[in-house]
Amino acid sequence: MKSSNQMKIIQLMKHGEQYSRQDISKLLGISMPTALRSIDELLEAGVITEAGSLSSTGGRRAKVFELNKNRGYILALQVTRRHLRMALTDLSGAILHVLKTRHGYTDDLSWYLEMENLINGFVSDTQIDPEKIIGAGLSFPGIIDQEKNLILHSHVFDITNIDLDRFYKYIPYPLYVANDANCACYAEQNQEKDSYLYLSLNESVGGSIMWKRKLISGTHWRAGETGHVIIHPKGRICYCGKEGCADAYLSTGVLLTEDGELDTFFDKLDSEDPDSLAVWDCYLDDLALLISNLNMLLDMDIVLGGDIGARMDKYIDDLCLRTKRYDRFSRDVDYIFPCCCKEHIFLTGAALGTIDRFDDRLLMD
Ligand SMILES: [Zn+2]
Repeated sequence: MKSSNQMKIIQLMKHGEQYSRQDISKLLGISMPTALRSIDELLEAGVITEAGSLSSTGGRRAKVFELNKNRGYILALQVTRRHLRMALTDLSGAILHVLKTRHGYTDDLSWYLEMENLINGFVSDTQIDPEKIIGAGLSFPGIIDQEKNLILHSHVFDITNIDLDRFYKYIPYPLYVANDANCACYAEQNQEKDSYLYLSLNESVGGSIMWKRKLISGTHWRAGETGHVIIHPKGRICYCGKEGCADAYLSTGVLLTEDGELDTFFDKLDSEDPDSLAVWDCYLDDLALLISNLNMLLDMDIVLGGDIGARMDKYIDDLCLRTKRYDRFSRDVDYIFPCCCKEHIFLTGAALGTIDRFDDRLLMD
């Protein structure tokens, strides 16, 4: 029988945090002897591990502990318009093996059967014991109802009310299916950052809100759908049918050059190509407008993610200045950050979301 204190310690550490025995006793409000007993049991079971010592100016240095990231694995999956990507990660979400296959989603039995084949082949190739896979996480570009287990809608695939049982049936692990932007949002979580809006600037624009380590889902599972906030009334037609949505101004399509490569645009920007500079000028202004509205509404940090967010580091100062023009409430615009996770964002986030969902399975024998 696992104690609830063991579970609380796991929950404390599941985003990579490191704590000493004293921290654990204090943070969980349990006596030192109880904390020591639970920590020893978790160490013995290999669930947590020693992670060095706290720096100290004198006396004995306190040891710190963290989750044993090698105790199990997560299978992460990402469905996109044309591909099925998969990865095996450790319990910190670090990618150990990755595969990209051309297997564009269609809601047909043959697609699910082939997915099952691809997963089995991939796991077998990694030579990792499937018994050690704690769960699977799947990133899907659609609105997911976590209570009814339904994909309510996906504009990308033009589908409505798809039962998630179709995935559960062919993926042989406990499965967490999440909206792609929600997965990306998980990928940014760390010890310092627990509340933020993740603005995903990709082929489509999306978003997700993390508040004190919990995703905000909204009444209809679409909280944070920032791509369809109108920033130019009667503006460009959005794929959703409305006019002037942020998506029509801030998705990668706006920046793509003839070769369809985003890097080409940023290379041209670096070499001060006048056309690219003009496009980027409008882009940053539109982004500043959206960010100022989102910050006014939510009063929280905004993390810029997706393919464009991952390239934003050197433009943040300029963006903050532009945002300041719309923001009369903040003394400094100090709430915009480029994303930290720049590669395999959705796979990493799907894995971390899965650990969040199935944390009790970390105590499995
Ligand atoms: Zn729209």
